[in-house]
Amino acid sequence: MEENKEVMSSNFIHSFIDEDIAEGGAYYGKKVHTRFPPEPNGYLHIGHAKAIFVDFGTAEKYNGICNLRMDDTNPTKEDVEYVDAIKEDIKWLGFDWEDRFYYASDYFEQMYGYAVELIKKGLAYVCELNGEQMREYRGDLNTPAKSPYRDRPIEESLDLFERMRNGEFEDGAMTLRAKIDLASGNFNMRDPVLYRINHMSHHRTGDKWCIYPMYDFAHPIEDAIEGITHSLCTLEFEAHRPLYDWVVDNISIESKPRQIEFARLGINNTVMSKRKLRQLVEENYVSGWDDPRMPTICGLRRRGYTPKAIRSFTDQIGVSKVNSVVEYGFLEHCLRDDLNENAKRAMAVLDPVKLVITNYPEDKVEEFEVENHPQNPDMGTRKVTFSRELYIESTDFMEEPFKKYQRLYPGNEVRIKSAYIVKCTGCKKDDDGNVVEVYAEYDPETRGGNTPDGRKVRGTIHWVNARDCIEAEVRLYDNLFTVPEPEAEDKEFTEFVNPDSLVVLKNCKLEKSLASAEKSDRFQFMRQGYFCVDSIDSTSDKLVFNRSVSLKDSFKKK
Ligand code: ATP
Ligand code: MG
Repeated sequence: MEENKEVMSSNFIHSFIDEDIAEGGAYYGKKVHTRFPPEPNGYLHIGHAKAIFVDFGTAEKYNGICNLRMDDTNPTKEDVEYVDAIKEDIKWLGFDWEDRFYYASDYFEQMYGYAVELIKKGLAYVCELNGEQMREYRGDLNTPAKSPYRDRPIEESLDLFERMRNGEFEDGAMTLRAKIDLASGNFNMRDPVLYRINHMSHHRTGDKWCIYPMYDFAHPIEDAIEGITHSLCTLEFEAHRPLYDWVVDNISIESKPRQIEFARLGINNTVMSKRKLRQLVEENYVSGWDDPRMPTICGLRRRGYTPKAIRSFTDQIGVSKVNSVVEYGFLEHCLRDDLNENAKRAMAVLDPVKLVITNYPEDKVEEFEVENHPQNPDMGTRKVTFSRELYIESTDFMEEPFKKYQRLYPGNEVRIKSAYIVKCTGCKKDDDGNVVEVYAEYDPETRGGNTPDGRKVRGTIHWVNARDCIEAEVRLYDNLFTVPEPEAEDKEFTEFVNPDSLVVLKNCKLEKSLASAEKSDRFQFMRQGYFCVDSIDSTSDKLVFNRSVSLKDSFKKK
């Protein structure tokens, strides 16, 4: 678990809670109790991270508690794989449900009991309209809905509902509906369906049930059973709140949770619905749910994101009642902020060319002690070795430099970071004109990269020792989509997958100290960006690094 967690910033939900727990409020003297209710039909994404932060963070702020509940009332596409992944992701984010882990499906029997209670009270009835008829009878703002079965005797509904449960009827033949208000301006209150028939196995209850409760009936009951005080959910449930309240008010249950809605998180250049994320996986646009380009928590984790960066992001975007789209660059900005402070520095050459220091002795090797972090001496130092042959970035040499180019070109002096000043003397090219070696001479008086005579050397380049460096694969990532809102386009969103979103560099040269890097370790490769060891594909024989984020902050520029 992360230490020094920040307390969540205040928002409008907290104002409501403050009123509720004050003297005279509905929850005066009670512990604030929230829940996070994912449907286990996919992996969690950054949008869920916001909901997790709101649910667990709010409980934390009030010294309350938060439950984790699998919202598995739907018998389709649910899987233990997802349940395990959800738990892992929430733990990783630094939140804890302790022993309060529940499945909504465990309440099926109680939900059935409450449905029977509503029928007995004359507040629910069995309806035989099919889906199409129901739509047809729905009415509009000026016309009330029609419901020909609404006045069916209670005894008859009780009998039919029991037979629905016993499997006597086909899918869609009947529903159980609440008897509320056919003329309501809120269509959710026009005798909404509470139960439907679905002869489908459930991943936990098997074939025990062939009727399943609708979300609007099940969710308030789940919350009330668990003693939730504040049921925090996204804005699309706002118009369902009267029904939520109707359910808890009309069944015999003590607890009366309060639903409060907040805006969903949207981020540009990506998609966020589980269905679409699954499609990207199943159609092989990405390597899996944890592909580092995915906006899933496991994808971000593998990319090198830290829990701290994600929490800081969710806190800074705030909680409001207005849906908005946040720039992907802001998420990256939050990661950069964390890694700038906490990642060790190292040198890596991603596109190498050899630099030969022609006046440096053949078998001499020198060691330089360099800082792991320029501002933080507590992060220690490490040794890098220097010899006659180095690797440098091929873009750090130009035979014919463009204006203002301050790196290596014949006649120019450059600082080899922390080592020496060298002067470029030329290069060797192959038959195709590609530079294969660059030549330079070093100035022995400039050890450590200093100029005792005070002369100015503008360029500083990173490097590794060709004699002891290690090889690695480095994966560079870019936006997964080429357009800001792939879902808003008039073509299928997969048409906009960015073909350059993954670039694999096979021949990178890394300083020797990185040989001991462990899975998920994070570094700043100087002048390149922040990188982490890939948690899946990297091995001690063949290191694989992911670029988590570049150094350049596109967000600040805007
Ligand atoms: P999706 O559409 O991605 O499948 P969902 O709402 O069906 O999402 P659930 O598993 O039902 O996914 O969501 C669990 C909780 O997370 C819900 O309370 C939901 O409101 C919240 N949530 C889902 N997506 C977002 C989002 N983009 N921003 C904030 N909260 C979200
Ligand atoms: Mg859902």
